[in-house]
Amino acid sequence: MSSQPAGRPPLNDERVNALSSYRTKLLEHREIESRLKSLRDKHKELHLEFQKSEDDLKALQSVGQMLGEVLKQLTPDNFIVKSANGPRYVVGCRRQLNKAKLKPGTRVALDMTTLTIMRYLPREVDPQVYNMTHEDPGNVDYSAIGGLGDQIRELREVIELPLMNPELFIRVGINPPKGCLLYGPPGTGKTLLARAIASQLDANFLKVVSSAIVDKYIGESARLIREMFSYARDHQPCIIFMDEIDAIGGRRFSEGTSADREIQRTLMELLNQMDGFDALGQVKIIMATNRPDTLDPALLRPGRLDRKLEIPLPNEIARLDILKIHAAPLSKQGEIDYEAVVKLSDMFNGADLRNICTEAGLFALREDREYVIHEDFMKAVRKTADNKKLETKLEYKPL
Ligand code: ATP
Repeated sequence: MSSQPAGRPPLNDERVNALSSYRTKLLEHREIESRLKSLRDKHKELHLEFQKSEDDLKALQSVGQMLGEVLKQLTPDNFIVKSANGPRYVVGCRRQLNKAKLKPGTRVALDMTTLTIMRYLPREVDPQVYNMTHEDPGNVDYSAIGGLGDQIRELREVIELPLMNPELFIRVGINPPKGCLLYGPPGTGKTLLARAIASQLDANFLKVVSSAIVDKYIGESARLIREMFSYARDHQPCIIFMDEIDAIGGRRFSEGTSADREIQRTLMELLNQMDGFDALGQVKIIMATNRPDTLDPALLRPGRLDRKLEIPLPNEIARLDILKIHAAPLSKQGEIDYEAVVKLSDMFNGADLRNICTEAGLFALREDREYVIHEDFMKAVRKTADNKKLETKLEYKPL
């Protein structure tokens, strides 16, 4: 009995042979196809490798370009440039280049042999100043600052209004304020305030910790101040925030070591930049310090830092505000009597109040809970108060 299904012609030898040769051909074809695919992949890899070595070769064979600075435009096509190593040349300019951009002082790249201007280069920015601009202020909303409503209003008046509506000042005929000093005990939110204004305003922001710019080489710190201000002028509107200004803004005195004299030179450069011949335009300065009593009076006179804002230790209402702000993200259970916590937090600053919330969270963790309860807050405030008693009391004198 044949196992052929009904309807198909019976298999004879010829058909069987044809079928098996077709099968072998099919297998061969599949094998060739897969080999072709792997060869194609290999070809792709080799091509990439080839391209890379071609590029490397090109980079090795290409001639470098010289750095120069445009001094003056002689004719529409000719410029006097000073090359980086000293001599001056009259040179031409590549045709595609926009000549309107080749103002005196522009850095350019010159061809090695013909000295033709090949391209213009951006202004050189000191790497230290560059780093100051890349400090992200984060997204701090004014609502994240507790109990400083008046100070926020005043700071916005001094910084935001002249930057956003300069015409108001022109209309009244007064010079807009240049800057503002924030002073007060540590941990009361001075840095936070500056970060809030920077993140809420559409302006460039330079954050400088004053102690970090004091350099051991004579003249270096003053140069950095100059670079900072010239960067700010080139990137208006800009806010310069100088934290811990007492590091360079201390009262000047006649005697002192060479290090003191270097700091004094830095201060003089700062004063010069603030009211020098170049108008500051849309550049505003915010300075912060814990020690306003040590500052040089020249720095504080109107026309330089027009507004002095005291950021005091928070009173009971402000403390309640700050505590609620920091307790908001915590997962809580049951009623929390914030007033009772605040009553125990006499003389606490904003940072201490934030610490209470962290401590309360830690107490909850210790008891294997995923939420904080009122008792955690009470324990945390007592613990923070005990810690504060141990701290040496820093004397703070108001201005
Ligand atoms: P220092 O003079 O020591 O630099 P500071 O006044 O600049 O201190 P900040 O760094 O602004 O203090 O504050 C420290 C932290 O304390 C802030 O990150 C913030 O979490 C909290 N804090 C301080 N004041 C307030 C406030 N008024 N509202 C909310 N949080 C505050």
